[in-house]
Amino acid sequence: MAQERARANNGTLVLRNEDIDSTRFKLEFVSEMIEDLRWFGFEWQEGPDCGGAFGPYSQSERRSFYVAALEKLRDGGFIYPCTCSRKDIRTAARAPHAEDDDEPIYPGTCRTKGIRCEVSGVRSEQPDTSHLTPGTRVNWRFRVPDNETIPFVDGNFGPQQFVAGKDFGDFVVWRHDDVPAYQLAVVVDDGAMRITEVVRGADLLKSTARQLLLYRALSLVPPEFFHCPLMTDESGVRLAKRHDALSLRALRGRGAKPEEIRKEWRAA
Ligand SMILES: [Zn+2]
Repeated sequence: MAQERARANNGTLVLRNEDIDSTRFKLEFVSEMIEDLRWFGFEWQEGPDCGGAFGPYSQSERRSFYVAALEKLRDGGFIYPCTCSRKDIRTAARAPHAEDDDEPIYPGTCRTKGIRCEVSGVRSEQPDTSHLTPGTRVNWRFRVPDNETIPFVDGNFGPQQFVAGKDFGDFVVWRHDDVPAYQLAVVVDDGAMRITEVVRGADLLKSTARQLLLYRALSLVPPEFFHCPLMTDESGVRLAKRHDALSLRALRGRGAKPEEIRKEWRAA
């Protein structure tokens, strides 16, 4: 779908290797993935194998971009350090875990711990981290503007809106294991790579609202968004997992032809 839209609009298709979790991604796996995608018929104009004006195209090589964004968010007072465990959040979450979402709404436990300090009438936007002992593992969370409606027009689904603090809560932008969270990495990359349209699955519609807040906080111009319906099998189970590059390799190994796979995916 991304390729068809790029072609139809005379656009450039970018392949970005999202290998933030570097332990999960080995170098030989990346070259296999690239080979499989080429075999399948994808033709990108910028990517880790062919380069381009906005490289590097592997997230594991883009850390300096993410660190700069983290500092900007911290200086702007948009984020705060959170020491809650997953269990803490599950126990204290004020809304039940929405089925369509990836995480429970953060109950705000650490929001006020690193409270902004006011010195002689001048508000310091630097979060106070004095309650943290050195070496404490923290997640940095984005403080969402409670009750603000975040509207956007999706290229496929039309007008959308989500309410900050109700549909989603304060979300992690930097993980306690010292890597940027998905939300931050994609916004920073899409901004830096001057991406004009993001094509992805409808399971990320709500994350678009989160990401729009990040674009605003980082003074970046957001791209357009085009979300595709998620493909399901006859019993309604999502096929996404079967459609990644790994499954492409498996299908190829079984002797499937790209044309057959494309036909089967369209029909799904
Ligand atoms: Zn917390």
